[in-house]
Amino acid sequence: MMFARWFGSIAIAVLAASGLRFLAAVFAVGGHWAFGTGLLSIGSLACWSLLFGTMWLVCSRQKWWRKSLAALTGLAVVLFLVVVFPPYWLMSIVNHCSTARFCFDTEQTVVALTIDDAIDPETTSQILDVLEAHSVRATFFVMTDTIGDDESSRAVMQRIAADHEFGNHQTRDRPGWRMSREAFRADVRQAKDRLAEFGAVHWLRPGGGCFTPSMARTAKGEQLQLVLGSVYPWDSHQSSAEFSARFVRARVRPGSIIVLHDRGARGTRTVEVLQRVLPALAAEGYRVTTLSEVTEVPD
Ligand SMILES: [Zn+2]
Repeated sequence: MMFARWFGSIAIAVLAASGLRFLAAVFAVGGHWAFGTGLLSIGSLACWSLLFGTMWLVCSRQKWWRKSLAALTGLAVVLFLVVVFPPYWLMSIVNHCSTARFCFDTEQTVVALTIDDAIDPETTSQILDVLEAHSVRATFFVMTDTIGDDESSRAVMQRIAADHEFGNHQTRDRPGWRMSREAFRADVRQAKDRLAEFGAVHWLRPGGGCFTPSMARTAKGEQLQLVLGSVYPWDSHQSSAEFSARFVRARVRPGSIIVLHDRGARGTRTVEVLQRVLPALAAEGYRVTTLSEVTEVPD
């Protein structure tokens, strides 16, 4: 019982200290920095709360059903926060243990920019214009079903081939874990063959942003490196370019992999996000480039 009180007090102290730190940041530096720090601390805070909350539950003399209910609710909230705002230390552990790349191990101020769900002749061209204006390169994860036979599709693909890099995003964005192994392999191969008409491809990001061990083996068999990302502002699920831009600026670290989306309204927002983020990153000394170029940077 005494231990329960201790752990409960520590959990409250951690929450209070984080809250005070956040408020101090708002007064000292202004909303922007607090926004970034706030976002970054949420995932870590969730992990600490889980630790002390579990200890409190174990030591407290509550009825078993109350403990189970509290444990399940706490776990659901923490998992949600950790998935949406993964702390960097956790991401780096996952990165080391996984066959997929989430970020790169480097001390250099270089980050990879990846554009998902390309192409859309209209918005991809606009994205290419912004990248060109800021002398930035990117890896475009193309869903090959979007490549039309028209001249504008071809022109966009040639522009990417000339200055940037292609990534395989299957023939269209669909969750690979729901496909049979054979169907997934056939889909990846079909996309790979189509992209080969335009340029080399080394990277695979499966649709839906998840993968299974079987999908990892397929990627390896096709000589493709699985890649997800470490800076994803949920721009395919929320529609604020302002939020995405602040999120990206707050979370970028040396070796980050930024994920933004193309096509339609998402593509238009990505143009806006890049217009805000690229000058800011350049001012902080970051070089923004393709996945392959970051892998060639010495540690
Ligand atoms: Zn996608």
